[in-house]
Amino acid sequence: MTPSEIIYSLVNYGEEKGLLDPLDRIYAINKLLRLFREDSYEEPKNSFSIEEAVQAGIGLGKEKKLTELENLNEEDAFEGEMIDALLPRPSQVKEIFFKKYQESPKAATDWFYQFSINARYVRTDRLKKNIVYKVKGEKIDLDITINLSRPEKDPKEIAKAQQVKSSSYPLCLLCKENEGYYGTFTHPGRANHRIIPLKLNGEDFYLQYSPYGYFNEHCIVLKKEHSPMTMNEKTFKRITDFLEMFPTYMLGSNAELPIVGGSILTHEHYQGGDYLFPLAKAGEEESFTFKKFPLIKAAIVKWPLSVLRVTSSSKEEIVAFCTYVLDKWRNYSDESLGIIAKDEVIHNTVSPIGRRVNGAYQFDLALRNNRTSTEYPLGIFHSHPEYWHIKKENIGLIEVLGLAILPGRLQKELELCRLQLLKPSTDIDPSIEKHLPWLMEVKAKHPELNEKNAEAILKEEVGLVFEKVLSDAGVFKRDEKGKAGFIRFIKTL
Ligand SMILES: [Zn+2]
Repeated sequence: MTPSEIIYSLVNYGEEKGLLDPLDRIYAINKLLRLFREDSYEEPKNSFSIEEAVQAGIGLGKEKKLTELENLNEEDAFEGEMIDALLPRPSQVKEIFFKKYQESPKAATDWFYQFSINARYVRTDRLKKNIVYKVKGEKIDLDITINLSRPEKDPKEIAKAQQVKSSSYPLCLLCKENEGYYGTFTHPGRANHRIIPLKLNGEDFYLQYSPYGYFNEHCIVLKKEHSPMTMNEKTFKRITDFLEMFPTYMLGSNAELPIVGGSILTHEHYQGGDYLFPLAKAGEEESFTFKKFPLIKAAIVKWPLSVLRVTSSSKEEIVAFCTYVLDKWRNYSDESLGIIAKDEVIHNTVSPIGRRVNGAYQFDLALRNNRTSTEYPLGIFHSHPEYWHIKKENIGLIEVLGLAILPGRLQKELELCRLQLLKPSTDIDPSIEKHLPWLMEVKAKHPELNEKNAEAILKEEVGLVFEKVLSDAGVFKRDEKGKAGFIRFIKTL
């Protein structure tokens, strides 16, 4: 492909997808000429697909030593720069978004999501590689994703990252300074990234979509300032403001404490989108009303984690009630169940998830505790060692909702496990040694296992392990003792 053909294909794509105004065509061609260090353009006959053009562009960039970074980030960064030449400026993106918002909130988010895909910021082509399936668990339905696009993080590493004072620019992957940033050796390219400014609780936030897109329209709402995650009244105010603004979306927050929090604790952010998670579909058992909060209905959710579902038509009252539950929980201990609210540090917090249901506001408050012990150094209410072969990472917001994001290594390992089950060998691949006790159980449980059904059985059993991991994360277990404990806590409200 000649440089002119690459450029021609890129601008054609930009126009077709509505990213590039025909009035800006020549300008974009000239920007791309400079990017490729070419000085003249001749309109070619052939136009190629965006994938072909991008690959040829990266090839040209490498050949001319224009990509600079020389690691995995370099191709993405250079691609981002190519696509950026086709995109409107951030202020124009914001203008279009709010023009669409006048039509309806959904029109605005529909447009921005499609824009983020067309801008190749949300990499749907890569997300298609993820292994995605559903499992009917023993008690609940589960969504499983084996993530083939992101490395596994150790909770201790995440905790360590929180201690390290960031000194680079942008300070983190979420910071607003990523918008249009070319990238570095350690920081991924964000030249084709655009964010939408929002006011929540009178404070400045930005809306973007997640490049990893774990579920439909997976969005991130990030604070203007790079400041650590917090959990207090403001959390509930910001979430309800967002739900008022975008009633078709859910929005939740990771807990602010290590182990029970998400992978980024250093920058205040929320995650949401348009997806009906297993938790949202889970039934309720015992329900409660409160004299001090007449407009609140609460119920215990049939879920392995300890989730209190709170519903109200009043935005103010639900914020007040959720804040009240959080404050009560922060100081609540039940030593008979191993729940200790604080010692030198605070251990109790919540993972809140907000949504609209028939116009009302609803929060699922998952009660969390991040204490560790000598027996469970990574967390008492965290995946226990016997399940680490499947899931060792934090049980964050997305997992609380019933969607397992499992490490990519499992793809290869499950295939080796399948072969081991079908044709047991003493020469065992080291990568599946950790799975052996589990494989023994699977084999005993499934005498019907054969060539045809082995893969499906293993995938289902992975889901059942995830269900047990969620139980580990529950502070009030789903047995008589645990249920009574949960009710004792609710009675203090
Ligand atoms: Zn940041």
